Amino acid sequence: MVKELLENSIDAGATEISIRIEQAGKKCIEVIDNGEGIASKESNIAIKRYATSKISSSEDLEKIQTLGFRGEALSSIAAVSRLMIESRSENNETGFNFVIEGGDEKGRKPIGRSVGTLIRVEDLFFNVPARLKFLKKDITERRLISLLVSRYALFYAGIRFSLIQEGKKVLSTNGNTNRREILSQVYDLETAKSLLKVNFSDEYLQMEGYTSPLNVTRSTRKEIILFINGRLVSDSTLSSAIIRGYYGLLMVGRFPITNLFINISPAEVDVNVHPTKAELRLKNPSQVFTAIQRTIRKTIAAYAPYAAVPPRIWKTPELARNVSHMKFDFNGFIDSPQEVQSSEQMKPIHLDPLKTSSLPLLRLIGQLGLTYIAAEGPDGLYLIDQHAAHERILFEKISHQDADKKTSQFLLEPIAVTLPAPQFERLEQQLDLLAGIGFQIEPFGPGTCKIMSVPQVLSSMDPKEALISAISDDQKSPKELVDTENREKMITRICKRLAIKGGQVLSTQEQKQLIRDLENCKNPRTCPHGRPTMIHISVDVLERQFGRRGSV
Ligand code: ADP
Ligand code: MG
Repeated sequence: MVKELLENSIDAGATEISIRIEQAGKKCIEVIDNGEGIASKESNIAIKRYATSKISSSEDLEKIQTLGFRGEALSSIAAVSRLMIESRSENNETGFNFVIEGGDEKGRKPIGRSVGTLIRVEDLFFNVPARLKFLKKDITERRLISLLVSRYALFYAGIRFSLIQEGKKVLSTNGNTNRREILSQVYDLETAKSLLKVNFSDEYLQMEGYTSPLNVTRSTRKEIILFINGRLVSDSTLSSAIIRGYYGLLMVGRFPITNLFINISPAEVDVNVHPTKAELRLKNPSQVFTAIQRTIRKTIAAYAPYAAVPPRIWKTPELARNVSHMKFDFNGFIDSPQEVQSSEQMKPIHLDPLKTSSLPLLRLIGQLGLTYIAAEGPDGLYLIDQHAAHERILFEKISHQDADKKTSQFLLEPIAVTLPAPQFERLEQQLDLLAGIGFQIEPFGPGTCKIMSVPQVLSSMDPKEALISAISDDQKSPKELVDTENREKMITRICKRLAIKGGQVLSTQEQKQLIRDLENCKNPRTCPHGRPTMIHISVDVLERQFGRRGSV
């Protein structure tokens, strides 16, 4: 409802919009703007449906909920609240004040006022109390309202917005179009500063906005905000294009903060679906999808924590060019192997041209805080997270083995394992998947099974522990599990449980082995959940930080 009122004010060309909310909107929603106003003689037209839109059918209720159709917002609101409209248009000497209660006109009088409109919605649903209980909890409604208003303020940065909730000023922008400044009101200062600027345009699509770096995430996708042609829209496909842009880079269950403002030529938007509706239909959704995904990917890449290899170190420009191919592949999907031309000149520095997104050879420095491994590369310092790195190593070893027997290590004597009923049930559901990665399991009486073989990679571990690590502990019903469970998830789970942990002492030999194994990974720089396995501090950064060169 706030959205419709806000959009009306914007449509009226307002440069200043103030919103006041009481009791999360149930008591009062007031929107004041300095837009073009409503001409006195049109005041009826503005709410022309009000007389007929008394609540008479469930269909009407439905409409009120969605407020989806042009010209119905005000009339629908009028039907279910005490609505007051005060307005004056430029062409009128005086304005008017118009009160409607539950769709019945209660009074109209001329008033003196400046050009613009005030709309006050009081006692929402006073005449349809049943609807009240469909509103979300006050705290949720309030949060939704402030999210809505702040995003409109961010998009329409040239408009002065103020939002007062329960007597408190929650947001106020000054219309000076500085979006960073608005971001710092929307998020905490640090988050606001960290957001990366997005910018893209081609012949039919322009994109602007902000998206979070890899270390700034949320546990829900609620902070993925999309404006298309000036309207806030919720489109799960396009949101997933943004998420896709982060594919493989974020931990499972983490989502970016993204505010994306897209302008698409109107010809590309299906006109049959009305623009005031939150859902929209695009003529070429996949084109837009791809553009979003790529742009997000490029944006993150441009600010990636791993600095590009500084050319200076590699002596010749020719080498530098080859080496620049070695950056993590941010442009395509993570698993697509990159091709790097083999080059004679690269041999002296022992870079294997086939290991593309790979690491250079690293020299072990030592373990830090029993959690990280410090190593030196030709291009600076690497700090490796031992748990994340080991997860990555196990993940690739298990994923790349074939399902054939050779990758299984048969046990000299099968081991019997008894499991609690729910776990056993899950085990039974996952027998095929387990077999696919090298666990050969045979049922052996109720609640008990025999482990015949384990994946080669895990042969040095306790077979029972290895098996348990593979079984989903998901609380889902077995049926759901079968639908969502897959090989990759299972492997990720094994890696998480069996990888060496932070806090574990590693011998020099083990540290070296970990680095060697990581060097052999196809995607050494993130763990299977997408967390970085390492931080790279380039020589360049070191020199700047120590003031040996340039400024910080
Ligand atoms: P719609 O915006 O789809 O036309 P609404 O029910 O939201 O339908 O509004 C009806 C009409 O009332 C608008 O078309 C506009 O002419 C007028 N109106 C509503 N709010 C304002 C406002 N804040 N300033 C100027 N005119 C307004
Ligand atoms: Mg409207």
